[in-house]
This record gives sequence, C-alpha cells and structure tokens, in this order.
Amino acid sequence: MASLNLVKPLNLDFVHWNYLAGKNRAGEVALVGAGPGDPDLITRKGWKLLLTAEVIVYDALVSQELLDEIPASIRRIYVGKRKGQHSRSQPEINQLLIELAHQGLQVVRLKGGDPLIFGRLTEEVLALKQAGIQWQLVPGITAAAGCAAQAGFSLTERKVAPSLRLVTAHSCDERPINWAELARRDETLVFYMGLSKVEEISRQLIQNGLPGDWPVLFVEKGTLKDQRQYLTTLAEMTSCAREAKLQTPSLIYVGQVVRQLLPTSQTTGDRLADQPAPE
Ligand code: SAH
Repeated sequence: MASLNLVKPLNLDFVHWNYLAGKNRAGEVALVGAGPGDPDLITRKGWKLLLTAEVIVYDALVSQELLDEIPASIRRIYVGKRKGQHSRSQPEINQLLIELAHQGLQVVRLKGGDPLIFGRLTEEVLALKQAGIQWQLVPGITAAAGCAAQAGFSLTERKVAPSLRLVTAHSCDERPINWAELARRDETLVFYMGLSKVEEISRQLIQNGLPGDWPVLFVEKGTLKDQRQYLTTLAEMTSCAREAKLQTPSLIYVGQVVRQLLPTSQTTGDRLADQPAPE
C-alpha cells in the first residue's frame, strides 16, 4: 500500500514551544558561559539555550569556532571591544539586553569562559532584575581550568599546591595587589588579563620571596587550534613573553603544578609541543 507522506513532521528541537502555543511571551535573558574557546567546551545546557535563542549578544572572548557552529538564522549582536572601533559601555550593554527582552525575545548573553569569573556579571544581572526581566545563569569552563586541561596538569595538588588563586592583574579601580600575600609556595596562582603586567608580576613575586627559578607557564589562546604555551621561570618570564610576542587572551600560571607537565625541564620559553612528553 502506498503511504501518503505529504505532511512532514516538525523538528521540534528548534521550535519554541511558547510560539507553537501562540502565547504572548515575555522576553528572557540567559547569561551563558561559552567556555575558553574550543566549541566542545560549552555546557549542554548552554548549547541548548543557544539553539533556541532568538538573539545572541556576545563579546570578544567568544571564539569564532563556537560562533560558526551556531545556526546562521539566529541573530547575533557583537558588543566586545575591537581595535579602532567604538565598543559599547557596560550601561549600553545592560540597556540593550533590557530592550531586547522587552521586545519579547529569548536572549542569550554569551560570555567567554565562565561569566561568574571576571565576567562583569553582577552589573548585568542587577540591571535585568531592576527592569523586572526574567534571567538565568549558566556557568562555563573558565580559562584557568580549560587551558590547564589542554596542557595536561592539575590546578591543585595535595603536596605542592593545596590552594588555588585566580587573580586579575587589572582591576577597574586599580586596587593595589597584595604581593606579599601572593608570594606563597603552597599555591597555584593564575593571572587573568596579565600580559601587560608581566614585568611587575616577576619583580614583585621575586621581591616578596619566591625564587627566580619558580615555574611559570604562559598559555595563549588556550583550547583553540592556534594555542601556544611556554614554560619559563619567574626570573625569565619577561623576556620569554617578549620573545614569544604573546598576545591576548593569555593566562599566566605561577606555581609548581605546571612542572607536573614537564618535571625535568629547566629550559626557558620553549614551546611545550616541541619538548619530549613527560614519563
Ligand atoms: N570569564 C572569563 C575571563 C574573562 S577575563 C573566564 O572565565 O575565562 C579575560 C581574560 O581571561 C583574558 O585576558 C585572559 O587572561 C583569560 N582568557 C580567557 N580565555 C582565554 C584563553 N582561551 N586562553 C588564555 N587565556 C584566556
């Protein structure tokens, strides 16, 4: 018997249930962590929200590789900073999110890494709350974890690093960093936004008691195809960064844990990929 196949089933994965039900929807904003770059490092929840979003508001740290995987039909608005171009201020971004939600749209505010870590999250959430807009938070893999996983070492280690500190080398009010507190031998330090402070990090940590041969690892564009990583020391990190012409985004790890990767290496500034694998 010939089957009648005129009506194609709807692919409900990509259809808004509220739309099908004909409801007058209120707009919502999901603040989602994109992960450090590799498109596979976004959470399942974040990815589902992206696929059902009507508009995505994203910034510079969201990788092109991830953007390329998002259906082209979904509207995107870039709000990051690009050299020579006007970038939107934080109040402008807050206002944009509010306006899009007021239009009844499902908005994903996509931020690099984990929006809960150096993500200027509170400003956006407070603005949404004040405007009475529904919001939700979806964490992501922060650069410190993503890049360490890629390089193959643990951020904490029972014997040598029972604690971990994520440090921003740049704080907007330029609050002075307490270097004496950071110069500890039982911690892993991870500096975000630290490239312009490399010389200061080196000088201050040595002045405050860490040895010049204390291990440092730079990771540039971690988890992306063109990732670069350099193992060096506190004393030599400035020349290493200069010679390698490191660019943003880069992370700076300071501490014994990076030696788990190359326990015997004493060299400076070598590409890890060029070195023999650890035993
Ligand atoms: N919310 C982000 C951090 C934003 S601050 C997160 O959780 O990862 C921006 C800084 O993060 C950059 O200056 C850089 O230090 C670091 N960073 C972000 N992505 C990175 C990547 N793929 N590789 C290396 N560093 C990265």
